[in-house]
Amino acid sequence: MLKGIAASSGVVVAKAYKLVQPVLNISRRNVEVEPELLKFEEALVKTRNDIQTIKEKAVGRLSDDDLAIFDAHLMVTQDPEFTGQMIEMIKSEGINAEFACQEVSGMFINMFESMEDAYFRERAADIKDVSYRLSCHIMGYELANLSLIQEEVVIVAHDLTPSDTAQLNKAFTKGFATAIGGRTSHSAIMARSLEIPAVVGIAGLLDHVNHGDVIVLDALDGVVLINPNEDELKHYKAKADRYADLKNSLKVLKDADSVTLDGHHVELVGNIGNPVDADKVLENGGEGVGLYRTEFLYMDAQALPSEEDQFVAYKSVLEKMGSRPTVVRTLDIGGDKELSYLPFPHEMNPFLGYRAIRLCLDRTDIFKTQVRALLRSSVFGKLCIMFPMIATLDEFRTAKKFVKDTEAELLAEGHAVSKDYQLGMMVEIPAAAILADQFAKEADFLSIGTNDLIQYSMAADRMNEKVSYLYQPYNPSLLRLIKLTIDGGHKEGKWVGMCGEMAGEEMAAPLLLGLGLDEFSMSASSILQSRKMIRSLKYSEMKEMADKALNMSNEAEVVALVKKTLKLD
Ligand code: PEP
Ligand code: MG
Repeated sequence: MLKGIAASSGVVVAKAYKLVQPVLNISRRNVEVEPELLKFEEALVKTRNDIQTIKEKAVGRLSDDDLAIFDAHLMVTQDPEFTGQMIEMIKSEGINAEFACQEVSGMFINMFESMEDAYFRERAADIKDVSYRLSCHIMGYELANLSLIQEEVVIVAHDLTPSDTAQLNKAFTKGFATAIGGRTSHSAIMARSLEIPAVVGIAGLLDHVNHGDVIVLDALDGVVLINPNEDELKHYKAKADRYADLKNSLKVLKDADSVTLDGHHVELVGNIGNPVDADKVLENGGEGVGLYRTEFLYMDAQALPSEEDQFVAYKSVLEKMGSRPTVVRTLDIGGDKELSYLPFPHEMNPFLGYRAIRLCLDRTDIFKTQVRALLRSSVFGKLCIMFPMIATLDEFRTAKKFVKDTEAELLAEGHAVSKDYQLGMMVEIPAAAILADQFAKEADFLSIGTNDLIQYSMAADRMNEKVSYLYQPYNPSLLRLIKLTIDGGHKEGKWVGMCGEMAGEEMAAPLLLGLGLDEFSMSASSILQSRKMIRSLKYSEMKEMADKALNMSNEAEVVALVKKTLKLD
């Protein structure tokens, strides 16, 4: 039995699919030409076959635009400029095929990456993909492809990138387990929005699990069992059934009010990563969207998405949500979220570096496209624009002015823009929490991003399981920062929400309610459970409890207080 962090609820039993992505160490060697050419040709055929199969399997699951990516990949493998130069190098220099592949593809990648035109920059990502696959085949590595999985499995990996996670086929991927990561790493967040059970941060995972082992993934308690015996299997199957019953019983609350026993209303809304997630928010009785992470639109693409592509996505979410508020966060890239087609310089501390609003205020070309798309979509619903990672009032003012200038530009061009969209900000840097009352004078709303706020307050990387003990949502220091933010917002008559994962935690809801939080934004799958909790509480009692918690000295005391007050275990 291995222990990790429960990242997306559920209990499943399936075979392990061990994902190992080979790391290629390529160096120049002198070889015999004829056999090397043969090896190269065989690898090329395998590469083409792979791409063809991936494409065929994806028909019906992916849009035509996404499928076209595979045609582009096939074209690369057939381009005589590309493979011809590799063959030429092997012949004339008598060198190994993988080195020739690395040299030639590197040249093309550099060339395409430096081009102005987005279409050509997109080709660089295609070439990277194809040349990696080709090199793997030349070197005799078998390449796993998640979208080719045809039986029910639990994926076991060192880590899954957010884009790996986005490609998982829910019909066959019953869950996943990873060696690194925490509850707030982005693959965990995506697992919750895809409703795929996940346990992350399991030390030693890959040493213990073999491909094909039977795995119990208990993503309620963060446990993985390898090759369980009959009794264990029976126990976990019963646990899975109980969990399914609980989920069903919550459905009656779909249209119920989010109101406490003594009549205090709050809003329970959803976090989404794409327009399809908005449907899940509605199915789960969400009263709006509290965080649309637009970066996934950028991460799922092969090049910066155009204004039109973005407009279509934002409009679709706003239309689905209708009169319900939709908080769309501007691009929050950097940290653990990278774009293959927009390489950043290597940084010692990417979470403290050039990311989110810092990047957008620098790359105003990228920011402009997004803000134009957002403002154009504003007439289709109740839009709230939110800036991530605001540290200073100057940053907020600059971003706000940028939006207002863009609005004037759009109006002059004859576009319609709603008159009552809101402009707010995330409070996820302690400096902003401490000065919340000043920010609230100029922002329409504040939304607390505890995923980052905790890591910055405790100086503990949210991705590093070795310091995950410092990730303490219930530490009184964090509760005081939350209190400062809520009071700061209310002093200026502004609403205050929370879109960090803490908002969806069962134990946190009573405290946040007592601290006066107005809006709780969480994965769609947590909304009904939270509504049940809110409806069982008295606001007056939770205020008293929160006051006590603020004066405690450590997390354990706060947890004990909440458990005692709510009579939990
Ligand atoms: C947060 O930091 O709490 C947040 C919601 O943003 P993200 O998890 O995308 O960094
Ligand atoms: Mg954040």
